[in-house]
Amino acid sequence: MLEASLKEECGVCGVFGHRDAGHLVYLGLTSLQHRGQESAGIVSWNGRMNRHAGMGLVFDVFKKENLQTLRGHAAIGHVRYSTHGSSVIKNAQPLLVSTPYGQVAVGHNGNFTNAEILKKKLELGGAIYQTTTDTEIILHLIAKSKKNNLPEAILHSLKRVEGAYSLLFACDRDSHNKPGSMMIAVRDPYGFRPLVLGRLGSSWVVASETCAFDLIGAKTEREIEPGEMIIIENNRNYKSVRLAERPTRSSMCIFEFIYFARPDSKIFGKSVYEVRRELGRQLAREAPPPPNIHSVIAVPDSSVVAALGYAEQARLPFEIGFIRSHYVGRTFIEPSKPMRDFRARIKYNPIRESLKGKSVVLIDDSIVRGTTSRKLIRMLRDAGVNQIHMRISSPPIVGSCYYGIDTPTTSELIASSHSVKQIRDFIGVDSLSYLSIEGMLRAAKGSTNQYCVSCFSGKYLTKIYQEESGKQS
Ligand code: SF4
Repeated sequence: MLEASLKEECGVCGVFGHRDAGHLVYLGLTSLQHRGQESAGIVSWNGRMNRHAGMGLVFDVFKKENLQTLRGHAAIGHVRYSTHGSSVIKNAQPLLVSTPYGQVAVGHNGNFTNAEILKKKLELGGAIYQTTTDTEIILHLIAKSKKNNLPEAILHSLKRVEGAYSLLFACDRDSHNKPGSMMIAVRDPYGFRPLVLGRLGSSWVVASETCAFDLIGAKTEREIEPGEMIIIENNRNYKSVRLAERPTRSSMCIFEFIYFARPDSKIFGKSVYEVRRELGRQLAREAPPPPNIHSVIAVPDSSVVAALGYAEQARLPFEIGFIRSHYVGRTFIEPSKPMRDFRARIKYNPIRESLKGKSVVLIDDSIVRGTTSRKLIRMLRDAGVNQIHMRISSPPIVGSCYYGIDTPTTSELIASSHSVKQIRDFIGVDSLSYLSIEGMLRAAKGSTNQYCVSCFSGKYLTKIYQEESGKQS
């Protein structure tokens, strides 16, 4: 993706029944780093709960000395990009609190769409918040619910929550509310965000994406179903419970295939690589290249797989047009003398030798505001490219996401107020085409009864309480 404007959301990973659980979760989180780079945290338990969390990347947050404190046979971890609540240490997850059901830790991937309403109601009842995340709301609801044990309290609390959630809980009591240990994984009834169950020998593993399993040698058992809660208390088996709400459809985020998930993962029962490549092929069928094109190039890294699919279908060579610097952090010191397109230049550099005098099809997975695309196109022109025909492996983004992806407000999305022709002129390409919603669904082998396409259609499945200011975790 050219734009830094759509941010990855969050990732969770948990291991139960392994003496190196904390270390395995740490490794799993490194594989999920693409889902959140602002903070990382792990809670492990060995009779008592141990927590370490910090700002930054997993490798920065965890050092040998604090990994050694994360002892125990079970652990859950989280990487965060904030979609609700600011980027500060107090918002790092997993959150850990004392409740009537023992010490409870939680990591969340998603977004409670009615968070502000719930928060106000809880505040009127005396709740005091430690963080500014929507995740904390679920802990307040659990603490207030008068149930026999944590699973019942979670089920009861989730009846009041709307929106997207893949949640991972850890508790130092069992399902009889006796001292023990329990890991609970829950996916919202529409299944917006992925959540997968795996096996590592006799241990259980849960993660947002299967790429976390590959690193630690775990095998995928199955997807946790939309509206399913899995309770793990021992190494032999788990208990599966259905949430009260049972919609007739699911609403899995199709953007996971386009951009967010890693191509080496399998989510929603499908290979991300296969779907992403098919998005490129479908794009070539719908928007073939004009005559006399020399090559297909991609905006690295997220658009490379779709570009390979496009090139294959269009029978054109795929070339590397840009090199992306992987070592650029979120903040950098700009030169005192203003330099045109500095922010784009620091991240991408065109390979002049492969571009000069050529006519290319440039593949990107999406256009958000259009400003970064425009800068990149200027860089290609400066590198001597003759014609640039841009093809986008998703439909125009016309609405903001309220289900766990940090997108700009709708009015900032260029496609919400500009036609394709106007966007073409703004970014300065010779031609511009997007994939259709139908073509995108065909590539993902599904329908609008399975996938969420709200940011492309502008139609939302759940009630949206605050249009422009209520972006929630
Ligand atoms: S609105 Fe878009 S990004 Fe958000 S869940 Fe739906 S498809 Fe995914």
